[in-house]
Amino acid sequence: MVIGAGAIGASAAFHLARRGARVMVVEKEREPAQHQSGRNSGVIHAGYNLKPGSLKARYCVEGSRQLRAYCRDYGIAIHEGGILIVARTDAERVTLTELHRRAQGNGVQARLVSEDEIRGIEPHARGIAGLHAPEGASFDPTAYVRSLLAEAAKNGAEIRYATAVRQVREGVAVQVETSAGTLSTGVVLNCAGLYADRIAGPVARDLCIIPFRGYYAELRPERRALVRSHVYGSPDLTFPFLGVHVSRRVDGRVFVGPGAMLAFGREAYRFAQVNVRDLASTLVWPGFYRLLHGSQFRSLIVREVQKSLSLSALSREAQLLIPELRPSDLVPSVAGNRAQVVSRDGHLVDDIVVRETPATVHVLNAVSPGLTCSLPFGQYLADLCQSRLSSSNVPLRREETEVNRG
Ligand SMILES: Cc1cc2nc3c(=O)[nH]c(=O)nc-3n(C[C@H](O)[C@H](O)[C@H](O)COP(=O)(O)OP(=O)(O)OC[C@H]3O[C@@H](n4cnc5c(N)ncnc54)[C@H](O)[C@@H]3O)c2cc1C
Repeated sequence: MVIGAGAIGASAAFHLARRGARVMVVEKEREPAQHQSGRNSGVIHAGYNLKPGSLKARYCVEGSRQLRAYCRDYGIAIHEGGILIVARTDAERVTLTELHRRAQGNGVQARLVSEDEIRGIEPHARGIAGLHAPEGASFDPTAYVRSLLAEAAKNGAEIRYATAVRQVREGVAVQVETSAGTLSTGVVLNCAGLYADRIAGPVARDLCIIPFRGYYAELRPERRALVRSHVYGSPDLTFPFLGVHVSRRVDGRVFVGPGAMLAFGREAYRFAQVNVRDLASTLVWPGFYRLLHGSQFRSLIVREVQKSLSLSALSREAQLLIPELRPSDLVPSVAGNRAQVVSRDGHLVDDIVVRETPATVHVLNAVSPGLTCSLPFGQYLADLCQSRLSSSNVPLRREETEVNRG
């Protein structure tokens, strides 16, 4: 059983069903991709910014190529225009050199470009230096998740919507308590995104998911020509967030954002929205206070509160990339919350975490660029599930079930 119909759960189900395994996907919403996988920048990242050797780097580089091929093969909208990262200060120029080093370490195409070359790539962007990653692209993530699930269903997977998992109990078989009754299964793959730590229970006691809201504005239609593809600022490598960028989506809209504001509920997408249980779990988490101790984190929060309260704070940041952009060019747009794992000792965990027991696999911290990573990462998760299924008495393949019934 796969819990969660986001990109990670859908990809694992796609791979398992193609191999002939019996798969049921259980999703609490009425449709797929209602949370992180449908509320994001929609960027296929090239992998220039990730630490070589990390799981994210491995899956992102491979995932970017697989995802672009998947979009072409299955008719998912894609715009392959590349990503330009600009430096505005000497310190940011040093960061670009580090990004270039990471790109080379990861085998990603990326070229350092001069001030003049920036104008050739993005005529309205400005910077003292840039890094161009031509493999960056935009795609339609919701259509992608739907397509993975449709393919899984074609191969026999059952998708149950409006079914929330409450608890997973491991015994001879695994008992999964849901809003629609108790289900019995051989192996559970927990891809519940923002709620994955709660479902994981004891194996994730040292971790807590703290939601960080990424809110976007978008350019008015008449100002969309300010960007051809994607313009990013040079990131602050202290935090696992890429910072504000100006991004053209496949439908032609241009998003500006996202911010990285602490959210008061895991699925709370507006500033004043509060989920008491979620907020309490953040506030009682010792790692949260250790995180707050850091002056860099406190100043991030102050900046983010300002940005989430006024479009002009967001536009000031975007103006550093595209000086012609004015506050009046922006209108508020969507928001999406990151399922960011914070460790007990107060670190924002910067890589994917997978925890396992004999009959369960839990995916924690599948943060950005999780969409880009999803195809090879889902394949890896399918391998983990299959090895558990083959060592249990659960029928692995659909044909075997038929034979057993006969
Ligand atoms: C603002 C933002 C921008 C991003 N931009 C990019 C980007 O440009 N490129 C990129 O590659 N990545 C990006 N990401 C990261 C990417 O969106 C995530 O890594 C990816 O979507 C994670 O997928 P998931 O399946 O793990 O989680 P989700 O998509 O959150 O899916 C989890 C699913 O589990 C379900 N669920 C939760 N609890 C239960 C329960 N108890 N019972 C049943 N179902 C349950 C949820 O309803 C949900 O459908 C971004 C993320 C954010 C938030």
